[in-house]
Amino acid sequence: MDQGIHETYAGLEGRELLEPLIRDFGGRLAVVSSFGAESAVLLHMVSEVDKSTPIIFLDTGKQFWETLSYRSMLIDRLGLTDVRSIQPDPSDLASADPDGTLHARNHDFCCHIRKTLPLEKALKGFDVVVSGRKRYHGGERRNLTPLTIDGARIKAEPLAGFSALDIELYMATHNLPRHPLTDIGYFSIGCEPCTVQGGSAEDPRAGRWAGTAKTECGIHWTANGRPIQVTAQRLQ
Ligand code: SF4
Repeated sequence: MDQGIHETYAGLEGRELLEPLIRDFGGRLAVVSSFGAESAVLLHMVSEVDKSTPIIFLDTGKQFWETLSYRSMLIDRLGLTDVRSIQPDPSDLASADPDGTLHARNHDFCCHIRKTLPLEKALKGFDVVVSGRKRYHGGERRNLTPLTIDGARIKAEPLAGFSALDIELYMATHNLPRHPLTDIGYFSIGCEPCTVQGGSAEDPRAGRWAGTAKTECGIHWTANGRPIQVTAQRLQ
């Protein structure tokens, strides 16, 4: 199967990759979007192929209100009809983060209950997961490929090879609205307690978990296509 998938979609990226994937996998494909600084590009491509494609948004309970507002505006503007806002399990929050300050003590555990667990649950039944990560963001993203396969699920990154300039040009060409926080210096936008102004076109994620070694929330995939897991042991 792996070889066949790679041959079928060899050399494709951007909408050229997205379109056949949505056509071939239909309701078994989901897009994961943060509705962040560059999300409009992938969401616009999806809307041009099939507005009813399932789109999963992790509503961690710690988002900027501007992100929630931008999400609503983009949904309307692009005509997306199946955006699923998923939330952490209330029992996990009650037992692990009753006062909402876990992020200040243990980023990994907070991301685990607010992002990883809800996302894993939401992705059950989907064979293809699409996200909008890019190699130019650096770190472990530097080695992204448009497709990875773990035997059970295909992970697609149609924008893997896009540069900051490509994103800018696409936004301008399609007159896409910008996340309001980009106007005041946010290059990458996640949860409010863990995002600060800053970053640059060369290092757009510098404002995420600034001052710590953490660079990813743990909902993405290793090079062999498996979800990165935070184990219970690491969390103690
Ligand atoms: S980014 Fe911060 S607030 Fe959001 S889930 Fe992770 S640790 Fe918690």
